[in-house]
Amino acid sequence: MAERQEIFHIRQESESDGRLLNVIMDTLPQGICAFSPEMTLLKWNRNLEIILDLPTGTIKEGILYKILTKHLDQISYLSTTNNAGASTRQQATEECFLKQDINYFERNLQDGRTLEISMNPMPDGGFIVVYSDITERKKAERVIRHMAHFDSLTGLANRAHFTEKLDGFLNRKRQNDNNLALALIDLDKFKDVNDTYGHPMGDALLQEVSEILTSLVRDNDFVARIGGDEFAILFPNSCGQDDIMPPLNRILKRLMEPVIINGVTLKIGASIGVSLYPEHACTTESLIKSADNALYKVKETGRGNISFTS
Ligand code: GH3
Ligand code: MG
Repeated sequence: MAERQEIFHIRQESESDGRLLNVIMDTLPQGICAFSPEMTLLKWNRNLEIILDLPTGTIKEGILYKILTKHLDQISYLSTTNNAGASTRQQATEECFLKQDINYFERNLQDGRTLEISMNPMPDGGFIVVYSDITERKKAERVIRHMAHFDSLTGLANRAHFTEKLDGFLNRKRQNDNNLALALIDLDKFKDVNDTYGHPMGDALLQEVSEILTSLVRDNDFVARIGGDEFAILFPNSCGQDDIMPPLNRILKRLMEPVIINGVTLKIGASIGVSLYPEHACTTESLIKSADNALYKVKETGRGNISFTS
């Protein structure tokens, strides 16, 4: 009798533990499911259906893991691109995941969400899969990455991005034995615009200058804002001084012309210092320094001109 009562209590306890576990699982924001060693579904929480956007009734005890995977394939971004390579990559990722060579991966969904899918083995050989919606985290990461590489006022590459680009160009140039030109452009008497018309007008002028520069170079050339009123342009396929003079003259001429912003005519100008790879310097640092010296020379000798490192 006592033994029967004990069994009854144990069953009651385990039922109540099971209910508690369900409540806990249902409060979690992730979709969670547990699979047997035979890959059949044992247990899942309420959010699984929502996060996987599953048709009601799809989830039943005993369904195979591959049913969920198949559904995920159908709603994933890559499967819609009709890209055989991408779909093979998806399969390979899934296989690595099941072999536990990797314990998490990400999927971009057609509805714009990104899911992180992680695998946790259980002691008896089964496994738990957790689906987390990481869309917001991914967006924030993209914003941070953009802020680290681009200037928020003009949208151009910033100094850090520019030096990275120059490093990359130089590495390739050393292999290909090609030339490269670096031009540093600093506006003349820009402070006067701020002082006379206010900082917002100065900002608008910097935006206008960035558009002018971008419009006057070729697609392969790289424009950056590397300081207050200082811009840089990389000309990766330049074949020396004669080759680079026409675009630089166009830029200087245009920056000497009046710019109209909000009905106000602003007269500015610019000074340009240039260094060439490999004639003047061969490293990122020395190319920038050489162009900077050339720019300084223009500023010292009256502004509004182009100078090459001598
Ligand atoms: P110079 O002819 O010798 O180049 O003199 P400049 O008046 O153009 O001044 P300089 O190039 O020495 O310094 C650039 C100034 O640009 C300093 C700062 O007041 C201003 N500046 C820097 N960043 C910004 C910005 O984001 N917006 C605005 N409006 N002004 C800025
Ligand atoms: Mg200036």
